[in-house]
Amino acid sequence: MQRAGDITEITPSAAIETTRHGWRAKCLQRLVRMALPVPRSFAICSDAVHAIAGGNPVPVSALAGLFDQGDGLVGVRPSAATPDWGGPGTVLNVGINNDSHARLAERIGTQNADAVYLSFVQNYAIHIARLDPDMFAQDGPGALAEALRCYRDETDEEFPQDPCQQLAEVLRSMARAWDGPTARLLRQAKGAPADAPLGLVVQHMALAMGPGLSGSGSIQFIDPVTGIARVTGRFRGQHHGSAVGTGAETLYLTRDPRGMSLEEVAPEIFADLVRFGVAARERLREEMQIEFVVTEGRISIIDAARVKRSSRASVRIAVALADDGVIPRPEAVMRVEPRALADLLHHQVDPRAPRDLIASGINASPGAATGRIVFSAAAAQASAARDEPCVLVRRETVPEDIRGMHASVAVLTERGGTTSHAAVIARGLGLPCIVGASGLTIDGRNRILRAGGRSFREGEVVTIDGTSGEVLAGAAALLEPALDDSFSRLLEWADAAGGIGVRANADTPEDARTARKFTAQGIGLCRTEHMFFDMDRLPAMREMIFADKPADRKLALDRILPMQRQDFIALFEIMAGLPVTIRLFDPPLHEFLPHDREGLRELAESLDLPLSDVTRRVEALSEFNPMLGMRGVRLGITVPEIYEMQARAIFEATVEASRKGDPVVPEIMIPLVSAMREVELVKTRVDAVAAAVRNERRADFTYRLGVMVETPRAALRAGDIAAHSAFLSFGTNDLTQMTYGLSRDDAGRFMGIYVGQRVYAEDPFHILDQDGVGELLLTGAQRARQQKPGITISVCGEHGGNPESIAFCHEAGFDYVSCSPFRVPVARLAAAQSAI
Ligand code: PEP
Ligand code: MG
Repeated sequence: MQRAGDITEITPSAAIETTRHGWRAKCLQRLVRMALPVPRSFAICSDAVHAIAGGNPVPVSALAGLFDQGDGLVGVRPSAATPDWGGPGTVLNVGINNDSHARLAERIGTQNADAVYLSFVQNYAIHIARLDPDMFAQDGPGALAEALRCYRDETDEEFPQDPCQQLAEVLRSMARAWDGPTARLLRQAKGAPADAPLGLVVQHMALAMGPGLSGSGSIQFIDPVTGIARVTGRFRGQHHGSAVGTGAETLYLTRDPRGMSLEEVAPEIFADLVRFGVAARERLREEMQIEFVVTEGRISIIDAARVKRSSRASVRIAVALADDGVIPRPEAVMRVEPRALADLLHHQVDPRAPRDLIASGINASPGAATGRIVFSAAAAQASAARDEPCVLVRRETVPEDIRGMHASVAVLTERGGTTSHAAVIARGLGLPCIVGASGLTIDGRNRILRAGGRSFREGEVVTIDGTSGEVLAGAAALLEPALDDSFSRLLEWADAAGGIGVRANADTPEDARTARKFTAQGIGLCRTEHMFFDMDRLPAMREMIFADKPADRKLALDRILPMQRQDFIALFEIMAGLPVTIRLFDPPLHEFLPHDREGLRELAESLDLPLSDVTRRVEALSEFNPMLGMRGVRLGITVPEIYEMQARAIFEATVEASRKGDPVVPEIMIPLVSAMREVELVKTRVDAVAAAVRNERRADFTYRLGVMVETPRAALRAGDIAAHSAFLSFGTNDLTQMTYGLSRDDAGRFMGIYVGQRVYAEDPFHILDQDGVGELLLTGAQRARQQKPGITISVCGEHGGNPESIAFCHEAGFDYVSCSPFRVPVARLAAAQSAI
């Protein structure tokens, strides 16, 4: 039964709502309000569509009048709540029958009228009457009669001649299609609820045919890839006896040396379209793509939608709209998806280019790069020496690979997850990286990569798209990074919104410089063990780890001390008085041990020890569960000289850097704490070193000692721990690992299946698990603040760069997040969006 309001004519004052009638109906109403030449249109509300799908009669009587006007044809389009959710395909030319066909033939010629009728009969037969498509594949002269005959033979009925009946069947079929399981799954994949509503729009058709200039097209006023203002689109003209000849022809919109353009053929029509476009941009406060029809020289605007755009275009468009006073600056800040900024920092695969996909994995570090495949760090270095860009392909990476990573333009690993070694290092270096690409196999011996049934030898060219996680064969077309004026201005506006603070995880002077370039408010995590990944420093670190007598260890530490002091001086100088949080050593020992015989032999040589001694010591040091073993503060308590050396290096650097530049107040952070006593012990020793350095250097300085909360117990006991800490920083990588009991290095193997089967909504190493790990964060913060109200609280795990996780931290009242330097812009924008 039809209820009032089921069908509403789209007029300026009609009650059209996006929630009831969908985005398309609302957008058409806006165009109508602007007095644009929109054909008469009606909106059918989602309740009515739902009822039609459920078998209720279709209320077409209100629409019957449309068939008495003009050519007597209508089009039906879906109108979901947002354009992204799609909908059943548009059906045009509803209402054509023998009578209207005859009338149409007089106006546009028999051939064209036949084409209109045939296309509707075919569409109706296949999609509405569900007949065999092969029977309706006719084309050319006689095709219409043949199609009508086939319809009659198959259904034992004449093709429906009543326009209202045709329309009722079309509406019913579209309503049912939306309720079908495939459509449900498709829209759910796009983020729509399974029971998302659908409205329908029935519009009187302006036919793109007739004597004089006729045709249809779409026009937009920006380049969807770059965001630069320029007219793009197409116009397919049906010209009968006009200056440009007869028949269908595609014209450029603007003057173009390659061929005729609408601008030249019909300057007044072109000028009107531009005028409509300018008005639509202002009134709809958005860059719109406008669909139009020209019938014998008259324009009809039949539809409009927000221009689909690349990340870089989204930034430029938002900034331009604010600059032109169309939207306020905070709205421009809200309009850009924070993740989109990551795309601007790096090369990207051109979305218009073909993609020859060979494998995919976890998109661990964004950007795209093309290079020759190499299978070892040494080959990568050799390739770099020849100035040949290369892609390092490894089963997984280890510290020895760092040099190779530096020498590569991208990294691909078969194993690993979002926080595995390759992922963390690549993000730090700003290299595109894919990890956990389990569909590929690496034949290291023969230097062959096998993927997707194909083989690639060392030296063959591939493209790594770290943004999508796809490995492409050959050299894909790339877009340059886009760190332009729009990018910086958008971020300035974001900072003005004053959200949660953003610091960077920076281990090297280069990282620190990147952090400054992106205006990080300090360093929130310097992983000091990463300072020893370089091959010229690794031996000193290994020597220290290998020393089993205090005297030997002291010798190794004495070699490390000046290196560390220099590192810290450099960081303090670059950060120029901004806070720098230095984490004391947290070397998962296995990352520093050789992994094969060759490595053992090299180590024995560099330590000048017999191979058997080194092998024995490696065995003695090896652990069943290194990530839960002698790590972090446990090493600091067991071998106190290590942290004492680091504290000394930090304080000596503090004195030196403060003498030359801004006063430095270093922040020292203790990793992997699980008990308050660990903090007490380290604090006593660090205080003693501070006193000694003050004395020796006759200098005064202060420092802040804090704790990394990365074990569930530390979060639960945050109250006690806070008593001895100036700040707490949640290390959500380890906290996630330990809360789930999920290895951050191995989870990549099954994460895809787990997320696919919705065991986890997302990879918890990527997006903070707010229900579980998040509860530990909230509990820890609350207990710490109860004990010490002003305590600084932050997150420095990889989640610190994730927009949803940043919103969570903002909501929880944390002071800052810290993330890889290249994610700082993303974090700044996400922070602003949480605050606006
Ligand atoms: C963490 O565990 O969240 C963290 C930042 O430390 P790392 O990744 O070095 O273990
Ligand atoms: Mg950790």
